Amino acid sequence: MSNDQIDLFSLAEDSQPAPAVDPDLIPTSAKVPIPPGTYASMEAMSLHCNQCQRCELGATRTHAVVGRGNPQADLMIVGEGPGQNEDETGLPFVGKAGQLLDKILESVKLSEADVFICNIVKCRPPGNRTPTQEEMDACRPYLLEQIRMVDPRIILLSGASAVRGLVGDKRGITKIRGEWLEWQDRLCMPVFHPAYLLRNPSREKGSPKWLMWQDIQTVRTKLDELRSQQ
Ligand code: SF4
Repeated sequence: MSNDQIDLFSLAEDSQPAPAVDPDLIPTSAKVPIPPGTYASMEAMSLHCNQCQRCELGATRTHAVVGRGNPQADLMIVGEGPGQNEDETGLPFVGKAGQLLDKILESVKLSEADVFICNIVKCRPPGNRTPTQEEMDACRPYLLEQIRMVDPRIILLSGASAVRGLVGDKRGITKIRGEWLEWQDRLCMPVFHPAYLLRNPSREKGSPKWLMWQDIQTVRTKLDELRSQQ
């Protein structure tokens, strides 16, 4: 480990409660595995992500964007990657697409307290390009840790990259949306990314927005069903 990393770690400890993380575990190379159970909290993981150089996105980020919402939520939403607003604030889905996502959730009476929102890659791809398979693979252990910690009943995969990055299905989102997928004993629902809905504002029957409305109602119904079984 370099001295720089030790200094950064010490600075972070000064500004927030001491995280339960062994600094020797900082995984700066994609070749270093991140074993399941490495992190006890999102905060501890966030500290690592902000020092991570497992892929080249680490070189240009301002902030790693780990997640927002309830880390014990039964619904997890996974998007593609941070945009400019997210990179600046360190929070996912805070731009126009994020506002639309919040409205979609509100339409079925879900709030930030009901969901945990994150992305396939934690650092912004320059120019908002799609993350490469290599970048998604490098960042995947963090997402797997988040899924382990949140332990959601349902995962909403928002956009084709989220579907490809987590479950490996390369079908287009228009083909796969609205169809329940089972991944590691969890239910996943692929849906359109809110940014796509912003580019396709029609609400007519059969339009992307209309289809999103069908999908989010399907998810809400399933969530109610699962909650009633608890
Ligand atoms: S995108 Fe993920 S793997 Fe790549 S540098 Fe950021 S945190 Fe590390």
